[in-house]
Amino acid sequence: MTPSAASAAPADFESALHQVMDRLGPSIFAGLLDTNGVLRYANQAALQAIGSTPEQVLGRRFETTPWWQACALSQQRLQQALVSALRGEASRFDVRVATSSGATLAMDFSLLPLYGADGSVAWLIPSARDVTERDQAQHQLLLTRHAVEQASDALLQVGPEGAIRDANAAACRLLGLEREQLLRLRVPDIDTQTDDRQWPQRWRELCERGALRFETSVRHQAGHEIPADVSVSLVASGAETFAHVCIDDLRERRAAENRIRQLLHFDELTGLPNRQLLFERLGATLQTSTETVVLVLELDRFKRINDGLGTHIGDAVLREVARRISATVRGIDLVARRGGDEFVIVMPDPRTAALHTAQTLLAAIALPMFVEGHEIHLTCSIGIATAPDDGERADTLLRRANAALHQARLLGRNQASVYAGANQDDDPERLALETALRHALRDEQLELHYQPQVDLGHGRIVGVEALLRWQHPTLGHIAPDRFIPIAEETGLIVAIGDWVLRRAIEQAAAWQRAGLPPLRMAVNLSARQLLQPELARRIEGLLAASGLDPRLFGVEVTESMLIANFDQAVQHLRALRALGVEVSLDDFGTGYSSLSYLRRLPIDVVKIDRSLVPDVSAPAEDVSITRAIITMAHQLQMKVIAEGVESEGQAALLAASRCDQMQGYWFSAALPAAALEAMLRDGRHIDATLLGRRSRQRTLLLIDDEDNIVAALRRLLRSEGWLVLSATSAEQALQLMARHEVDVILSDQRMPGMTGVELLRRARQLYPETIRLVLSGYTELQSITDAINEGAIYKFLAKPWDDEQLRAHLREAFALKEMTDQNRRLDHEVKTANRELAELNRRLQTLLSAQHEQNVREVGSREAAQELLDAVPVPVLGIDEEGLLVFANGPALALCGRDGDLLGASATEQLPQVLQQAVEGIPMLVWLAGRRWWALSRILNGNARGRLLVLLPQAGAST
Ligand code: C2E
Ligand code: CA
Ligand code: CA
Repeated sequence: MTPSAASAAPADFESALHQVMDRLGPSIFAGLLDTNGVLRYANQAALQAIGSTPEQVLGRRFETTPWWQACALSQQRLQQALVSALRGEASRFDVRVATSSGATLAMDFSLLPLYGADGSVAWLIPSARDVTERDQAQHQLLLTRHAVEQASDALLQVGPEGAIRDANAAACRLLGLEREQLLRLRVPDIDTQTDDRQWPQRWRELCERGALRFETSVRHQAGHEIPADVSVSLVASGAETFAHVCIDDLRERRAAENRIRQLLHFDELTGLPNRQLLFERLGATLQTSTETVVLVLELDRFKRINDGLGTHIGDAVLREVARRISATVRGIDLVARRGGDEFVIVMPDPRTAALHTAQTLLAAIALPMFVEGHEIHLTCSIGIATAPDDGERADTLLRRANAALHQARLLGRNQASVYAGANQDDDPERLALETALRHALRDEQLELHYQPQVDLGHGRIVGVEALLRWQHPTLGHIAPDRFIPIAEETGLIVAIGDWVLRRAIEQAAAWQRAGLPPLRMAVNLSARQLLQPELARRIEGLLAASGLDPRLFGVEVTESMLIANFDQAVQHLRALRALGVEVSLDDFGTGYSSLSYLRRLPIDVVKIDRSLVPDVSAPAEDVSITRAIITMAHQLQMKVIAEGVESEGQAALLAASRCDQMQGYWFSAALPAAALEAMLRDGRHIDATLLGRRSRQRTLLLIDDEDNIVAALRRLLRSEGWLVLSATSAEQALQLMARHEVDVILSDQRMPGMTGVELLRRARQLYPETIRLVLSGYTELQSITDAINEGAIYKFLAKPWDDEQLRAHLREAFALKEMTDQNRRLDHEVKTANRELAELNRRLQTLLSAQHEQNVREVGSREAAQELLDAVPVPVLGIDEEGLLVFANGPALALCGRDGDLLGASATEQLPQVLQQAVEGIPMLVWLAGRRWWALSRILNGNARGRLLVLLPQAGAST
């Protein structure tokens, strides 16, 4: 400060003071009142906010100035504050202040008394600070807390020492604890796989990696354990570091998995294995038994019972037949229901003659049945085929047993007939096809068509599947389902498959050269092709010769093909994936598919069969099965494509279920190359509105069966800038939901057909992300409370409504939706990144292990070490850091019943199950090859890194 300012006259000093006040910035208001409450001074910021000049407000009573016109409550408080201030008491409170721009500011207001020389109050100083941002942040925080609290996943906050610092309601529910109880615990108290000693190690791991994900089980307060998928991420906030833990309860997923398995493999009516499981088991049996008998049993004139007595009697009869067959055959025999009134019995290594068994079955079925007061007499016919004499493949045997069954029926029913050789193959057309097929390749009757595969994220074509077409000059178009099995059985498929590979790769390379957008070409492989030892190398050669980037190529295989020759198939697929070729598991859901089995397969994409692609009108259960499959595949870092999509509704539902891609007639059938190329050039795609992923207007769906209410609501909400859709029935509402991505749903409760609560339950199943509210004049308390508790409804609002409140509730619902959307997008991005990372890792691993093998070969001393180890009389195995078996001495190979081909494979996959834990470092007694062993492993830290597993035989325990 300059000396002149310090000694300035009082008037100068006052103006300097005013300048200081005026420069306090736009968000600080200050003023001066006399003891009558009259405004004598206001700073620039305060005046600007109300757009007034000093003349307009100075000299007026403070409470009558424009600042106080926004809120009557603030004005009242000011009156009290003025009274207090005159008594010498300061006040401070939050106020809402009106500005000339129409906005309202939230301000932290204080009124201070200023004393004169005589010690009495001389002036009052009002001041206010803008806290709109603080308020907004607080509001945001509240919303976030609300979202965390409402989240269906259990969430915990954990400190570095393992203490649980915060938990949401879902976490408390999951563990059966009150929040206070839970906040007294530490992670080792609830995680069954972490104890106090291990915790520091876990924390270190988390700090190193930033995030962890693992399966474990958590302890419920009642004592039982709950399987859980846990994701942990490290959060550093200021000086503080803590872990954010998300616990996903796996029970439902496991139950869904079992349910899916049950649905896919068993007949609902009789509980017997269905056609799929029959095929799988028969295939397996044929590989392990020397002789197998297949009996196909069909009831004679069963239709008469269904038609005459009704299907519920028919169903009871079928159950009784199933029971009688099962009671007649041995425990190791397989009884399956192939469909309708057909049963199949598979008998590995039979002790009695097949015809004898058949006679016993005929007699058992012929005994009278008593169902609901009806006495029913039934007979059946049986056809028999035996492996290996009548064929070695499941489909051949079943077909031949069918031919024998046909014979039994011709002979007058109620009898059994044995397959009698090729002349009984009652399908002359088939023989004709077989001959024709031999010429098809040579005469160039085969052609490939290409069906587009579309990404459900951005809607554009990302790939095509090559599908064979056969146009025969006289027989006409022959469907692949008809000729591929013949090609398989005759072995012609090898030549055809090779032709397909070559054509498809050439075509894909040509499209790339022509400058079309990147497109992945997928080819169906057949079981026989997968058996060829040079398949992977052949594909690699074709790709190299054409110059096609392997990442623009894919193969489709089915699980049955993999099962037929697991090791070889897996080897091929691994080699292909190492090149960058994408592997899809075709027809998922029709075969042997068990979800947990997927983990073990080297695949990138799960292709959901069309039988599992539901429409909007499908039962909610179907939709949740499909969703469960998609979720599970994503968790296993796999993509999902749905095939056979025939309607817009299906596509929309799949997009809403986060399915990655789709293909089907709705978008396009398979097309000749030229037509597909035209489609690509046109840039045909799925409309973004259907995918619901565009940046779009917030959408509200109103449902009320009374038109005038819908109209009133529309009027009320017109100014909000939302897209408002309306429906007058539940059905109409569901249609709208399929076509639009709806954010918030407001439904009436009483409607003909379906109540609001029912509709919103269904909406929750189909579109769980929507925020759902009921607006009702009738408080059917119980059903509504239930719906709120189970999460189907976010809020219940009463009719007649208060306009302002209703608007506020809806705005809040939109804000909540926006935030969950944001969270989900983030989550999705993290998952995609993870998937890409896993893919990179995998390729790196393959490269590394190839390199590793090379290294191992190069190290000369390896032989010497091996020789030394061979001389040790107990089994010794070496496992490297990546879990691959790198050496095994003679006794170890003998114990595993294998020769050297064990090496280089994964220890977890190759070693007997009982050794798994020992490999992980837990010493244990195991039972192997008829004796007891101590299995011990130790870490190697020298030149060779990894683990050494030694098995020490235990005395006195041989069989
Ligand atoms: P796939 O691999 O499951 O192929 C999908 C089948 O579904 C194709 O029948 C396709 O035309 C059909 N499809 C596509 N969209 C729809 C839809 O929206 N609705 C319905 N109902 N069907 C749809 P396609 O071309 O008759 O082929 C049948 C099967 O023949 C294929 O089933 C595949 O297993 C086999 N196949 C076709 N081409 C080849 C080939 O080059 N090699 C081998 N090994 N098998 C092939
Ligand atoms: Ca396919
Ligand atoms: Ca398929």
